[in-house]
Amino acid sequence: MPDLKIIRLTRRYGDQVALDRVTFEVADEEIMVVLGPSGSGKSTLLRLIAGLEPPDEGQILLNGQDLAGVPPHRRRIGLMFQEYALFPHLNVFENVAFGLRMQRLPEPEIRERVRTLLNQVGLSGYERREVHTLSGGEKQRVALARSLAPRPAILLLDEPLGSLDRALREQLMKEIRDLLKAERMTALYVTHDQSEAMAVADRVLILHRGRIEQIGPPEALYQDPATPFVARFLDLGTFLEGRVLAGGEIVEVQTPLGVLRGRPRGPVRPHDPALIMIRHTLRSVGTEPLNALAGEAIDLSFRGLHREVWLRVGGGQLRLILPASATSVRRGDRLSLAIPAEDVLIWPLGAS
Ligand code: ADP
Repeated sequence: MPDLKIIRLTRRYGDQVALDRVTFEVADEEIMVVLGPSGSGKSTLLRLIAGLEPPDEGQILLNGQDLAGVPPHRRRIGLMFQEYALFPHLNVFENVAFGLRMQRLPEPEIRERVRTLLNQVGLSGYERREVHTLSGGEKQRVALARSLAPRPAILLLDEPLGSLDRALREQLMKEIRDLLKAERMTALYVTHDQSEAMAVADRVLILHRGRIEQIGPPEALYQDPATPFVARFLDLGTFLEGRVLAGGEIVEVQTPLGVLRGRPRGPVRPHDPALIMIRHTLRSVGTEPLNALAGEAIDLSFRGLHREVWLRVGGGQLRLILPASATSVRRGDRLSLAIPAEDVLIWPLGAS
Protein backbone atom coordinates (compact mmCIF):
# COMPACT_ATOMS: atom_id res chain seq x y z
CA MET A 1 0.00 0.00 0.00
CA PRO A 2 1.42 3.40 -0.92
CA ASP A 3 3.02 5.37 1.81
CA LEU A 4 5.46 8.23 1.47
CA LYS A 5 8.52 8.71 3.66
CA ILE A 6 10.48 11.93 3.46
CA ILE A 7 13.81 11.76 5.24
CA ARG A 8 15.97 14.83 5.99
CA LEU A 9 15.08 16.37 2.65
CA THR A 10 17.15 19.48 1.93
CA ARG A 11 17.19 21.88 -1.01
CA ARG A 12 19.31 25.02 -1.36
CA TYR A 13 19.23 27.77 -3.94
CA GLY A 14 22.60 29.52 -3.60
CA ASP A 15 22.82 30.65 0.03
CA GLN A 16 19.10 30.21 0.54
CA VAL A 17 17.92 27.01 2.22
CA ALA A 18 14.45 26.42 0.75
CA LEU A 19 13.99 23.09 2.57
CA ASP A 20 15.96 22.19 5.66
CA ARG A 21 16.17 18.52 6.72
CA VAL A 22 12.44 17.94 6.41
CA THR A 23 11.32 14.54 7.76
CA PHE A 24 7.76 13.19 7.81
CA GLU A 25 5.56 10.35 6.61
CA VAL A 26 2.23 10.20 4.84
CA ALA A 27 0.31 7.01 5.59
CA ASP A 28 -1.61 4.99 3.02
CA GLU A 29 -4.89 6.77 2.11
CA GLU A 30 -3.98 9.76 4.25
CA ILE A 31 -4.52 13.37 3.13
CA MET A 32 -1.60 15.42 4.42
CA VAL A 33 -1.92 19.17 3.91
CA VAL A 34 1.26 21.25 3.78
CA LEU A 35 0.39 24.69 5.12
CA GLY A 36 2.71 27.66 5.27
CA PRO A 37 3.14 31.27 4.19
CA SER A 38 4.50 32.23 0.80
CA GLY A 39 8.19 31.32 0.51
CA SER A 40 8.11 28.63 3.23
CA GLY A 41 9.20 25.88 0.82
CA LYS A 42 5.88 24.21 -0.04
CA SER A 43 6.28 24.16 -3.83
CA THR A 44 9.92 23.15 -3.53
CA LEU A 45 8.83 20.13 -1.49
CA LEU A 46 6.32 19.10 -4.16
CA ARG A 47 8.80 19.59 -7.00
CA LEU A 48 11.34 17.33 -5.26
CA ILE A 49 8.75 14.62 -4.60
CA ALA A 50 7.51 14.81 -8.19
CA GLY A 51 11.11 14.51 -9.39
CA LEU A 52 11.06 17.82 -11.26
CA GLU A 53 14.32 18.72 -9.53
CA PRO A 54 16.73 16.77 -7.32
CA PRO A 55 17.27 17.33 -3.59
CA ASP A 56 20.69 18.36 -2.28
CA GLU A 57 20.36 15.88 0.55
CA GLY A 58 17.86 13.42 1.92
CA GLN A 59 15.62 10.67 0.63
CA ILE A 60 12.13 10.19 -0.73
CA LEU A 61 10.68 6.70 -0.34
CA LEU A 62 7.39 5.76 -1.99
CA ASN A 63 6.10 2.37 -0.93
CA GLY A 64 9.56 1.61 0.39
CA GLN A 65 11.24 2.42 -2.94
CA ASP A 66 13.91 5.16 -2.98
CA LEU A 67 12.93 7.55 -5.77
CA ALA A 68 16.44 8.97 -6.28
CA GLY A 69 17.19 8.75 -9.99
CA VAL A 70 13.63 7.66 -10.90
CA PRO A 71 12.36 10.05 -13.63
CA PRO A 72 9.06 11.90 -12.99
CA HIS A 73 6.95 9.80 -15.38
CA ARG A 74 8.02 6.57 -13.68
CA ARG A 75 7.21 7.69 -10.13
CA ARG A 76 3.45 6.86 -10.22
CA ILE A 77 2.84 10.32 -8.84
CA GLY A 78 -0.15 12.40 -9.98
CA LEU A 79 -0.02 16.19 -10.09
CA MET A 80 -2.71 18.83 -9.93
CA PHE A 81 -1.86 22.51 -10.02
CA GLN A 82 -3.56 25.85 -9.53
CA GLU A 83 -3.61 26.74 -13.21
CA TYR A 84 -5.91 24.32 -14.97
CA ALA A 85 -3.25 22.96 -17.33
CA LEU A 86 -5.89 21.11 -19.33
CA PHE A 87 -5.03 20.27 -22.92
CA PRO A 88 -6.85 23.00 -24.88
CA HIS A 89 -7.14 20.97 -28.08
CA LEU A 90 -8.79 17.96 -26.37
CA ASN A 91 -12.37 17.75 -25.16
CA VAL A 92 -13.32 16.86 -21.59
CA PHE A 93 -13.41 13.11 -22.24
CA GLU A 94 -10.00 13.05 -23.91
CA ASN A 95 -8.45 15.22 -21.18
CA VAL A 96 -9.52 12.73 -18.51
CA ALA A 97 -8.61 9.75 -20.74
CA PHE A 98 -5.12 11.10 -21.48
CA GLY A 99 -3.18 9.21 -18.79
CA LEU A 100 -5.16 6.04 -19.48
CA ARG A 101 -4.25 6.13 -23.17
CA MET A 102 -0.60 6.58 -22.15
CA GLN A 103 -1.00 3.37 -20.13
CA ARG A 104 -2.49 1.71 -23.26
CA LEU A 105 -5.56 0.46 -21.41
CA PRO A 106 -8.28 -1.23 -23.51
CA GLU A 107 -10.90 1.22 -24.85
CA PRO A 108 -13.84 -0.18 -22.80
CA GLU A 109 -11.82 0.20 -19.60
CA ILE A 110 -10.91 3.78 -20.50
CA ARG A 111 -14.56 4.60 -21.17
CA GLU A 112 -15.66 3.09 -17.89
CA ARG A 113 -13.02 4.86 -15.83
CA VAL A 114 -13.69 8.26 -17.46
CA ARG A 115 -17.43 7.80 -17.05
CA THR A 116 -17.04 6.96 -13.34
CA LEU A 117 -14.76 9.91 -12.64
CA LEU A 118 -16.86 12.46 -14.55
CA ASN A 119 -19.85 11.20 -12.63
CA GLN A 120 -17.97 11.58 -9.34
CA VAL A 121 -17.00 15.19 -10.11
CA GLY A 122 -20.55 16.00 -11.22
CA LEU A 123 -19.72 16.41 -14.92
CA SER A 124 -21.62 13.54 -16.51
CA GLY A 125 -22.74 14.66 -19.95
CA TYR A 126 -19.77 17.02 -20.38
CA GLU A 127 -17.71 14.47 -22.36
CA ARG A 128 -17.78 16.32 -25.69
CA ARG A 129 -17.41 19.83 -24.29
CA GLU A 130 -14.36 21.83 -25.35
CA VAL A 131 -12.37 22.90 -22.30
CA HIS A 132 -12.50 26.63 -23.19
CA THR A 133 -16.29 26.52 -22.74
CA LEU A 134 -15.98 25.44 -19.07
CA SER A 135 -16.15 27.63 -15.97
CA GLY A 136 -13.16 27.82 -13.61
CA GLY A 137 -14.73 25.36 -11.18
CA GLU A 138 -15.57 22.91 -13.99
CA LYS A 139 -12.03 23.09 -15.32
CA GLN A 140 -10.63 22.24 -11.89
CA ARG A 141 -13.03 19.32 -11.59
CA VAL A 142 -11.82 18.00 -14.95
CA ALA A 143 -8.21 18.53 -13.85
CA LEU A 144 -8.91 16.54 -10.68
CA ALA A 145 -10.56 13.70 -12.63
CA ARG A 146 -7.64 13.68 -15.06
CA SER A 147 -5.02 13.47 -12.33
CA LEU A 148 -6.88 10.63 -10.56
CA ALA A 149 -7.69 8.62 -13.71
CA PRO A 150 -4.41 6.63 -13.99
CA ARG A 151 -4.62 5.69 -10.27
CA PRO A 152 -1.34 7.23 -9.15
CA ALA A 153 0.23 5.88 -5.95
CA ILE A 154 0.05 9.39 -4.51
CA LEU A 155 -1.51 12.65 -5.71
CA LEU A 156 0.26 15.98 -5.20
CA LEU A 157 -1.98 19.05 -5.29
CA ASP A 158 -0.38 22.52 -5.38
CA GLU A 159 -2.86 25.29 -4.41
CA PRO A 160 -5.54 23.60 -6.55
CA LEU A 161 -8.19 26.18 -5.60
CA GLY A 162 -5.93 29.23 -5.70
CA SER A 163 -7.55 30.83 -8.71
CA LEU A 164 -11.20 30.37 -7.68
CA ASP A 165 -13.48 32.72 -5.78
CA ARG A 166 -14.32 32.10 -2.14
CA ALA A 167 -17.75 30.44 -2.41
CA LEU A 168 -16.52 28.05 -5.08
CA ARG A 169 -13.42 27.24 -3.07
CA GLU A 170 -15.54 26.32 -0.06
CA GLN A 171 -17.60 23.97 -2.19
CA LEU A 172 -14.64 22.38 -4.00
CA MET A 173 -12.66 21.82 -0.78
CA LYS A 174 -15.32 19.40 0.36
CA GLU A 175 -15.70 17.81 -3.09
CA ILE A 176 -11.95 17.22 -3.35
CA ARG A 177 -11.78 15.65 0.08
CA ASP A 178 -14.79 13.43 -0.63
CA LEU A 179 -13.35 12.31 -3.95
CA LEU A 180 -9.88 11.59 -2.54
CA LYS A 181 -11.53 9.48 0.16
CA ALA A 182 -13.82 7.69 -2.34
CA GLU A 183 -10.76 6.87 -4.46
CA ARG A 184 -8.83 5.86 -1.32
CA MET A 185 -6.06 8.14 -2.52
CA THR A 186 -2.91 9.04 -0.61
CA ALA A 187 -2.40 12.77 -1.11
CA LEU A 188 -0.13 15.68 -0.29
CA TYR A 189 -2.02 18.96 -0.65
CA VAL A 190 -0.30 22.35 -0.54
CA THR A 191 -2.05 25.55 0.47
CA HIS A 192 -1.34 28.83 2.26
CA ASP A 193 -4.97 29.09 3.38
CA GLN A 194 -5.60 27.80 6.91
CA SER A 195 -9.34 27.23 6.56
CA GLU A 196 -8.77 25.25 3.36
CA ALA A 197 -6.10 23.20 5.13
CA MET A 198 -8.41 22.37 8.02
CA ALA A 199 -11.31 21.45 5.70
CA VAL A 200 -9.29 19.06 3.54
CA ALA A 201 -6.71 17.50 5.87
CA ASP A 202 -6.44 14.35 7.90
CA ARG A 203 -3.22 15.88 9.21
CA VAL A 204 -1.63 19.26 8.63
CA LEU A 205 2.10 19.92 8.35
CA ILE A 206 3.06 23.53 9.07
CA LEU A 207 6.13 24.71 7.20
CA HIS A 208 8.06 27.87 8.02
CA ARG A 209 11.33 28.90 6.38
CA GLY A 210 11.89 25.40 5.06
CA ARG A 211 11.39 23.69 8.41
CA ILE A 212 8.52 21.78 9.97
CA GLU A 213 6.97 23.68 12.87
CA GLN A 214 4.34 21.10 13.73
CA ILE A 215 2.46 18.12 12.28
CA GLY A 216 -0.89 16.97 13.58
CA PRO A 217 -4.62 16.64 13.03
CA PRO A 218 -6.36 20.03 12.64
CA GLU A 219 -7.91 19.87 16.13
CA ALA A 220 -4.52 19.20 17.73
CA LEU A 221 -2.96 22.26 16.10
CA TYR A 222 -5.75 24.45 17.44
CA GLN A 223 -5.77 22.86 20.90
CA ASP A 224 -2.07 22.62 21.30
CA PRO A 225 0.01 24.87 19.02
CA ALA A 226 3.66 23.85 19.45
CA THR A 227 5.22 27.20 18.64
CA PRO A 228 4.28 30.89 18.65
CA PHE A 229 4.61 30.78 14.85
CA VAL A 230 1.89 28.12 14.58
CA ALA A 231 -0.38 30.00 16.99
CA ARG A 232 0.09 33.28 15.10
CA PHE A 233 -0.30 31.68 11.69
CA LEU A 234 -3.59 30.08 12.79
CA ASP A 235 -4.56 33.39 14.43
CA LEU A 236 -5.36 31.70 17.72
CA GLY A 237 -4.92 34.60 20.10
CA THR A 238 -3.63 37.97 21.23
CA PHE A 239 0.14 38.01 21.91
CA LEU A 240 1.78 39.97 24.71
CA GLU A 241 5.23 40.12 26.18
CA GLY A 242 5.80 39.78 29.90
CA ARG A 243 8.00 38.44 32.63
CA VAL A 244 7.72 35.20 34.59
CA LEU A 245 6.88 35.61 38.27
CA ALA A 246 6.50 31.98 39.27
CA GLY A 247 6.98 28.70 37.40
CA GLY A 248 5.24 25.33 37.71
CA GLU A 249 2.38 23.58 36.00
CA ILE A 250 0.57 26.91 36.03
CA VAL A 251 2.94 29.81 35.38
CA GLU A 252 2.38 33.33 36.65
CA VAL A 253 3.47 36.20 34.43
CA GLN A 254 3.47 39.97 34.73
CA THR A 255 1.96 41.47 31.56
CA PRO A 256 0.62 44.85 30.40
CA LEU A 257 -2.87 43.47 31.22
CA GLY A 258 -1.86 42.63 34.78
CA VAL A 259 -0.74 39.37 36.33
CA LEU A 260 -1.90 36.34 34.33
CA ARG A 261 -1.76 32.64 35.00
CA GLY A 262 -1.35 30.19 32.15
CA ARG A 263 0.08 26.95 30.82
CA PRO A 264 3.80 26.81 30.00
CA ARG A 265 4.64 25.71 26.43
CA GLY A 266 8.39 25.46 27.01
CA PRO A 267 10.93 25.85 29.79
CA VAL A 268 10.09 29.12 31.60
CA ARG A 269 11.78 30.19 34.83
CA PRO A 270 11.14 33.08 37.23
CA HIS A 271 12.48 36.43 35.94
CA ASP A 272 12.69 35.16 32.35
CA PRO A 273 11.03 37.20 29.61
CA ALA A 274 8.01 35.38 28.18
CA LEU A 275 5.67 35.46 25.21
CA ILE A 276 2.05 35.10 26.24
CA MET A 277 -0.98 34.24 24.14
CA ILE A 278 -4.56 34.66 25.26
CA ARG A 279 -6.96 32.74 23.06
CA HIS A 280 -9.40 34.80 21.00
CA THR A 281 -11.99 32.10 21.49
CA LEU A 282 -12.12 30.86 25.03
CA ARG A 283 -12.35 27.07 24.95
CA SER A 284 -12.31 25.89 28.50
CA VAL A 285 -14.98 28.05 30.10
CA GLY A 286 -15.19 27.62 33.84
CA THR A 287 -11.91 25.72 34.28
CA GLU A 288 -9.95 26.74 37.36
CA PRO A 289 -7.82 28.69 37.94
CA LEU A 290 -9.36 31.78 36.37
CA ASN A 291 -7.78 35.10 35.50
CA ALA A 292 -10.14 37.86 36.56
CA LEU A 293 -9.77 40.85 34.23
CA ALA A 294 -11.80 44.00 33.71
CA GLY A 295 -11.76 45.82 30.38
CA GLU A 296 -13.49 48.41 28.24
CA ALA A 297 -14.87 47.50 24.81
CA ILE A 298 -13.06 49.93 22.48
CA ASP A 299 -13.98 48.39 19.16
CA LEU A 300 -16.50 45.89 17.85
CA SER A 301 -16.88 44.29 14.48
CA PHE A 302 -19.48 41.96 13.05
CA ARG A 303 -17.97 39.15 10.95
CA GLY A 304 -21.01 37.21 9.87
CA LEU A 305 -20.57 34.02 11.86
CA HIS A 306 -18.98 35.75 14.83
CA ARG A 307 -18.33 39.10 16.43
CA GLU A 308 -14.96 40.51 17.40
CA VAL A 309 -14.46 42.70 20.43
CA TRP A 310 -11.34 44.69 21.20
CA LEU A 311 -10.93 45.36 24.89
CA ARG A 312 -8.62 47.76 26.67
CA VAL A 313 -7.37 45.96 29.75
CA GLY A 314 -4.83 47.71 31.99
CA GLY A 315 -2.05 48.92 29.71
CA GLY A 316 -2.80 46.51 26.87
CA GLN A 317 -5.43 45.31 24.44
CA LEU A 318 -7.13 41.99 24.00
CA ARG A 319 -9.15 40.70 21.07
CA LEU A 320 -11.93 38.24 21.78
CA ILE A 321 -14.20 36.37 19.41
CA LEU A 322 -17.80 36.04 20.55
CA PRO A 323 -20.79 34.33 18.96
CA ALA A 324 -22.62 36.54 16.44
CA SER A 325 -25.61 36.38 18.77
CA ALA A 326 -23.71 38.35 21.45
CA THR A 327 -25.33 41.61 20.41
CA SER A 328 -25.59 43.22 23.80
CA VAL A 329 -21.95 44.38 23.98
CA ARG A 330 -21.59 48.06 23.02
CA ARG A 331 -18.58 50.26 22.51
CA GLY A 332 -17.59 51.83 25.84
CA ASP A 333 -19.10 48.99 27.92
CA ARG A 334 -17.06 47.75 30.84
CA LEU A 335 -16.76 44.00 30.92
CA SER A 336 -15.54 41.60 33.56
CA LEU A 337 -13.76 38.59 32.17
CA ALA A 338 -12.80 35.30 33.71
CA ILE A 339 -10.17 33.74 31.45
CA PRO A 340 -9.25 30.14 32.31
CA ALA A 341 -5.52 29.52 32.71
CA GLU A 342 -5.98 26.80 30.05
CA ASP A 343 -6.57 29.56 27.50
CA VAL A 344 -3.36 31.41 28.31
CA LEU A 345 -0.25 29.86 26.74
CA ILE A 346 3.24 30.91 27.80
CA TRP A 347 6.44 30.45 25.79
CA PRO A 348 9.96 31.50 26.68
CA LEU A 349 10.58 34.75 24.76
CA GLY A 350 12.86 33.98 21.86
CA ALA A 351 10.97 30.82 20.88
CA SER A 352 10.34 31.24 17.14
P1 ADP B 1 6.23 28.42 -1.27
O1 ADP B 1 5.77 27.41 -2.26
O2 ADP B 1 5.96 28.03 0.14
O3 ADP B 1 5.77 29.82 -1.57
P2 ADP B 1 8.81 27.98 -2.49
O4 ADP B 1 9.06 26.53 -2.34
O5 ADP B 1 8.34 28.47 -3.81
O6 ADP B 1 7.83 28.48 -1.33
O7 ADP B 1 10.15 28.79 -2.15
C1 ADP B 1 10.92 28.57 -0.98
C2 ADP B 1 12.14 29.48 -1.01
O8 ADP B 1 13.03 29.05 -2.03
C3 ADP B 1 11.78 30.92 -1.33
O9 ADP B 1 12.62 31.76 -0.57
C4 ADP B 1 12.08 31.05 -2.81
O10 ADP B 1 12.48 32.37 -3.12
C5 ADP B 1 13.25 30.07 -2.99
N1 ADP B 1 13.21 29.47 -4.33
C6 ADP B 1 12.27 28.61 -4.80
N2 ADP B 1 12.57 28.22 -6.05
C7 ADP B 1 13.73 28.83 -6.40
C8 ADP B 1 14.57 28.84 -7.57
N3 ADP B 1 14.27 28.10 -8.65
N4 ADP B 1 15.67 29.62 -7.55
C9 ADP B 1 15.99 30.35 -6.46
N5 ADP B 1 15.25 30.39 -5.32
C10 ADP B 1 14.13 29.63 -5.28
